[in-house]
Amino acid sequence: MKKLSDIGTIKDILSRYGFSFSKGLGQNFLVNPSVCPRMAQLSGAGEGVGALEIGPGIGVLTQELCALCDKVVAVEIDKRLLPVLDETLSDFDNIKVVNADVMELDLNSLIKEEFSGLDVVVCANLPYYITSPVIMKLLEDRLPVNSITVMVQKEAAQRICAEVGSRQGGAVTAAVNYYCEPELLFYVSAGSFMPAPKVDSAVIRLNVYKQPKYKLENDRDFFKIVRAAFAQRRKTVLNSISSSLGLEKSVVNELLLECEVSPSARAEKLSMDDFVRIAERISRYE
Ligand code: SAM
Repeated sequence: MKKLSDIGTIKDILSRYGFSFSKGLGQNFLVNPSVCPRMAQLSGAGEGVGALEIGPGIGVLTQELCALCDKVVAVEIDKRLLPVLDETLSDFDNIKVVNADVMELDLNSLIKEEFSGLDVVVCANLPYYITSPVIMKLLEDRLPVNSITVMVQKEAAQRICAEVGSRQGGAVTAAVNYYCEPELLFYVSAGSFMPAPKVDSAVIRLNVYKQPKYKLENDRDFFKIVRAAFAQRRKTVLNSISSSLGLEKSVVNELLLECEVSPSARAEKLSMDDFVRIAERISRYE
């Protein structure tokens, strides 16, 4: 099996297939040989486990996952990479590559069809242009997965793993904490990729709660409120929520006071319990 983190091997493959990197698709491939084995190990990949990968590229992380897991399903949007993956993953019979945009896929059905009887983990070096939407989709779809281990930009990692209610926190911090405990595993320098991006990266693991920690009649109300509160994060929660949801200020003001949340607070000051109370109250109002 060819070592895909070797720059000579990558260049040879890319030139034979006439492949050029697409900036728009966030194609920065890993060339640091120590990163993928570490990432795969820490993702919980192993016997009895199925791994869902998003964006396999030329298959450098996929090979590690295939070597450890019972089955791997890798979702790749770029058709040009399919023949490359055919070659680089030819040693494995436990891989299925799905040519699709991950944002368009019904991942619950895919997991049900492909990973019956297996524990499931997500492991991916995410395309940075859609880091937050992908993470939000994975969480909001309530996938039956143990954990989600992803490489993201360093700043995104720090935001996701920040405390809710701190200045570093954002909508994604609260959303992530609704379903799981985020953990920053290790940093990866920009030079570990080809082509090298402008910023460093980090690998995070989202340890999904086995039992829901926060219970709402409709989870989507929570995400709706969090998004609305952070939509204009410099404004007060009163202004941000009322303008984002198109509700009268006086109504939102009253709701916030009932929830014991100051209408003049900024979203970054609110706790998980504050967001849960507002979401519960708003869903009863609508
Ligand atoms: N896993 C490889 C690695 O570590 O070298 C490639 C990672 S690269 C940062 C991101 C990959 O995601 C690319 O292969 C890109 O084509 C793919 N991609 C981009 N947008 C996607 C989408 N919406 N759905 C599925 N794959 C996508």
